[in-house]
Amino acid sequence: MSSPRVFRFAPSPNGRLHLGHAYSALLNRKLADEADGWLLLRIEDIDQVRSAAEFERGIYEDLAWLGIGWEEPVRRQSEHMDAYRVHLDRLIAGEFVYPAFMSRGDIRAHIADTQASGAPWPTDPDGAPLYPGVDRLLSARERKRRIESGAPFAWRLDMARALQHVAKPFSWQEGGRGPTGETGAVPADPAIWGDVILARREMPTSYHLSVVTDDALQGVTDVVRGRDLFHATAIHRLLQELLDLPRPRYFHHDLVLGEDGRKLSKSRGNTALAALRAEGRTPAEVRRMVGL
Ligand code: GLU
Repeated sequence: MSSPRVFRFAPSPNGRLHLGHAYSALLNRKLADEADGWLLLRIEDIDQVRSAAEFERGIYEDLAWLGIGWEEPVRRQSEHMDAYRVHLDRLIAGEFVYPAFMSRGDIRAHIADTQASGAPWPTDPDGAPLYPGVDRLLSARERKRRIESGAPFAWRLDMARALQHVAKPFSWQEGGRGPTGETGAVPADPAIWGDVILARREMPTSYHLSVVTDDALQGVTDVVRGRDLFHATAIHRLLQELLDLPRPRYFHHDLVLGEDGRKLSKSRGNTALAALRAEGRTPAEVRRMVGL
């Protein structure tokens, strides 16, 4: 017997679930059932400032109300820092990351200086300026000195070095669609993100590193998530290559948009599942609202 396909729903407990999450969870459940596979639940709570127990309880309440079940155990990222540390240490040993010391203010000042000479500064798919990366050139001694002095820093991916290490072209299998209709074998172009943060001085991980680690450790074969994460997949594929991890299939689904045509945010209460429930809506109505 071949092993089952493994899907996952991976919310962050930093707000109540809304219609967009309902769509993602229901679609994962549906695709797992159609494949006679498993659905896992993962609580992405590495951001201890924004995560709250109240929101985590809300995830269980809302999923139970929708009638969605999953295979136990639930993986809570905050309980697995050791696993992320192992991968971070491998990236450090391979010199695929470097300690980056520039503060937000330093980055802004550096960019302003460079732009003053006329050159436009590149931005990532989310519109944020790429990291200047000047501290990539610091000597080992200077790095050590700064780290020992207690200076705050982030571990940033040395994108240029990482790209040299992977066989190109590399791609991922997309079962859904990207923002401009990309589907099938999609070429991965992580360079558009520049030297992304993979961990921090106090925190051995980041969204990218923990997602890639967990998908591998949990044996996830099918990543089904919103189209807002389509471009991040290029970074995930790169990390899988650097860490020698299996590559799942990807399916990026439509985003459920608010009445104003904008992405739903957890703070806008009107589409929160708890609010819909309080108004007397039923799970069947929610399924109809998201077209499932
Ligand atoms: N935790 C992420 C979110 O709530 C989803 C991550 C993923 O599916 O890869 O948006």
